Amino acid sequence: MRHIAIIGSGPAGYYTAEAAQKKFGEDVQVDIIDRLPVPFGLIRFGVAPDHQSIKGVARRYEKVALSENVRFVGNVSVGDDVTVTQLQEIYDAVVLATGAPNDRMLDIPGAELSGVHGSAAFVGWYNGHPDFTDLAPDLSGEHVVVIGNGNVALDVARILSKTESEFGGSDIVGHALEALQTANTKTVTFLGRRGPHQIAMTPKELGELGRLERASPRVAPGDLPEEGADALLEPGMRKSVTHLRDFAAIPDGVRSEKPILIDFDFFASPVSIEGDGKVEGVTVERTELDDDLRSSGTGETYTIPASLVVTCIGYQTPPIEGVPYEHGRGRFANDEGRILPGLYCVGWARRGPSGTIGTNRPDGYGIVDLIDEDASSGQGKEGRAALDNVLEARGKEPVRFSDWKRIEEAEAARARDGAPREKFTSIEEMIGALS
Ligand code: NAP
Repeated sequence: MRHIAIIGSGPAGYYTAEAAQKKFGEDVQVDIIDRLPVPFGLIRFGVAPDHQSIKGVARRYEKVALSENVRFVGNVSVGDDVTVTQLQEIYDAVVLATGAPNDRMLDIPGAELSGVHGSAAFVGWYNGHPDFTDLAPDLSGEHVVVIGNGNVALDVARILSKTESEFGGSDIVGHALEALQTANTKTVTFLGRRGPHQIAMTPKELGELGRLERASPRVAPGDLPEEGADALLEPGMRKSVTHLRDFAAIPDGVRSEKPILIDFDFFASPVSIEGDGKVEGVTVERTELDDDLRSSGTGETYTIPASLVVTCIGYQTPPIEGVPYEHGRGRFANDEGRILPGLYCVGWARRGPSGTIGTNRPDGYGIVDLIDEDASSGQGKEGRAALDNVLEARGKEPVRFSDWKRIEEAEAARARDGAPREKFTSIEEMIGALS
């Protein structure tokens, strides 16, 4: 028997478990450990609440989770309840699928001001992550600045702009829905340090901005490269840029019929955040691109008003004591996922925060091949029975997948009309649903 521990129950974790089942069949036992009592990581806490169809992939993970040789071990914190070193002694292979839940920090003066939030915190707040339930962002001002030109920036701008009815069928948590509907947002400005041809926004998601009930996007025509240059772009990017061209063509009169403006400020790099205790503005330096398409400042600066700033500039994996870490890239030091024989990483913990949910699938399958290569059979380790002993000695009772199904039922039972669930937003509430 081969014993595998996977730390993290998001897409990377479940694809790895699926791959282990396919490769080793009955000859493997997999424990998926998560510090939260609820599974699926990014699917529950990262994917936007109004993108329910993307969350459907959890049904595939559930199939894996319900099989005999895969266990969910929730509400167990690696580092506090059990160490990676202990897990390495207990299991033949330990796979870190911990994702990249921490914000990359924007290292400019004023970034510490009240009213400046990283996207992990802001997204966590509207998605009901227990760490960010109490964020209470101040939405009383009119100007929101969203830093970054990626899909997370798009999610944040869209969520800030939607009407209550546009959240129908979503699982946005009640506290966020309520706060957003009484917000005073009039302008959401995207700051992109490069240009329209360098955005990291995918076309389907970008196109949604053009169909919002109460918000309209604006792109300055002068920021767009000449149209012929689009032919050199790869097809997805060309479609995204076509959306930007459509936004640039919206007549001002039509745009102003909607109360919220979503403004694209390209070639604009934030240099400082202004305010007396609380954010009041962002000072931006105009940029230009060099031959390698990197941005550099032109020296021209200006300040835009900001009552709230959300930085959406990428994420990093939290280091784990004793595990080699690449600080510059914010992920574990690894070679194709192998940290050292017996210890591996997958998904964002391996690659950094890029790609789609599906990108994690080949990652998981590749790791299982490496596990097999490093030890072609189990090494007589004890596996799950030994983990149970460690946890029992600490008085820790893990949450099982069957428990999660009860939490899930309780969340569905208290959902708003038309919503799939009303999430519990604290660990105590989640555990409380089991009593
Ligand atoms: P991302 O795609 O890497 O975008 C980060 C953005 O931040 C880029 O525009 C980047 O500009 C900018 N940036 C980085 N450092 C900056 C700085 N110091 N100052 C100003 N701008 C800075 O990251 P993400 O948006 O967090 O998304 C992470 C991954 O999740 C991506 O693969 C994304 O596609 C995926 N995702 C997908 C969806 C979906 O609905 N399909 C939703 C959310 C996330 P440069 O290009 O100049 O570096």
